Amino acid sequence: MDIEQIRSDFPILSTTVYGKPLIYLDNGATTQKPKCVVEEIENIYYTTNANVHRGVHYLSQQATDLAEEARVVVQQFINAGHSKEVIFTRGTTESINLVAHSFCQQFCSQGDEIIISAMEHHANIVSWQLQESIRGIKLKIIPINEKGELILDEFKKLISPRTRLVSVTHVSNVLGTINPVEEIIGIAHSHDIPVLIDAAQSVQHIGIDVQKLDCDFLVFSGHKIYGPNGVGVLYGKEKWLNLMPPYQGGGEMIKTVSFKGTTFNELPFKFEAGTPDYPAVIALATAINYIKKIGLDSIKAYEDELLRYCTDELLKIDGIRIFGTSDNKSSVISFLVGNIHHYDMGMLLDKMGIAVRTGHHCAQPLMEELGIEGTVRASLAFYNTKKEIDQLIAGIKRVASMFG
Ligand code: PMP
Repeated sequence: MDIEQIRSDFPILSTTVYGKPLIYLDNGATTQKPKCVVEEIENIYYTTNANVHRGVHYLSQQATDLAEEARVVVQQFINAGHSKEVIFTRGTTESINLVAHSFCQQFCSQGDEIIISAMEHHANIVSWQLQESIRGIKLKIIPINEKGELILDEFKKLISPRTRLVSVTHVSNVLGTINPVEEIIGIAHSHDIPVLIDAAQSVQHIGIDVQKLDCDFLVFSGHKIYGPNGVGVLYGKEKWLNLMPPYQGGGEMIKTVSFKGTTFNELPFKFEAGTPDYPAVIALATAINYIKKIGLDSIKAYEDELLRYCTDELLKIDGIRIFGTSDNKSSVISFLVGNIHHYDMGMLLDKMGIAVRTGHHCAQPLMEELGIEGTVRASLAFYNTKKEIDQLIAGIKRVASMFG
């Protein structure tokens, strides 16, 4: 990989903050966008702006064709069996809420159980808690060990005749742990239980083949995979999506509407109510094509190298504690240094031009489990460099020396 060439595709990486070169290490929160993605959005608005699926006129048909081509790009990227299994949403959060609402409406009644894990993002907790209050379902939680890995023996014990679905993250946005999702899916399927995989933190780092994984649902966000904000994906097996009722009403999700009753459109449109952010959909495909050109295998190999380097260097710092020490990790590192508050560390690093995330990372139950309020999190992308990591380490040491 030609990192300098890649970095030149991301203009923001050569900007400065407080007069210092920007070192962007908050890629778990959102990734920066290559020029081709931003230019695609501009291009669409300047040349092809019209509502999709609505008009007989040229522009509308052009826009519709591009949006449907984008669906095929996503389908091929995750190797879905059919493009109608790819639903465009506003992001991971909306995708999980969609499944929680529609799946539970169809398949869950009072006392039924959904299994999630102790390392979930709030999106994969609260969506189900809403169903707890609406339908009286119960949540069961897979615990983690001291390395921040799911305890699969405990998972097996949680499965009961009332279990209706398992919903787990592929990669933890705090610990970086890559969960053994193939094994989890295998175990769940041996009890005929479907599985949702939250791929918000994995799809940009690890090649995903939904048919090989055999997951029933998989969700991710455009903005974490170098694409635009406000667009995301729900992959669902056709058999489930066909059985599930719509999530929202209006727009392209109908077949016929009368005051006596309404019939619904086929997949994928049944789940796409209202005018979609189709320029974002099209630019998501541009982002995916950009990543494919670099190659996810090369991206993973390089990010693994950065992760190893960053971890080794961090471990040399006095008083460092790293949260998430699994052997199978993605490029997310959460840490604390001595008694320095994560917020102080983040604020002072920021003044040196270094952007990291601080706080609970939308995973408060995990923080409770770890017995802390929050961490500092550096999350690395393929445009980061060892030199930037050196600057992070030097910055942390400077903060540590200020605090004595
Ligand atoms: N799940 C995980 C694992 C995440 O890291 C995030 C974003 N931090 C989300 C879900 C929510 O994604 P979004 O805000 O894009 O909907």
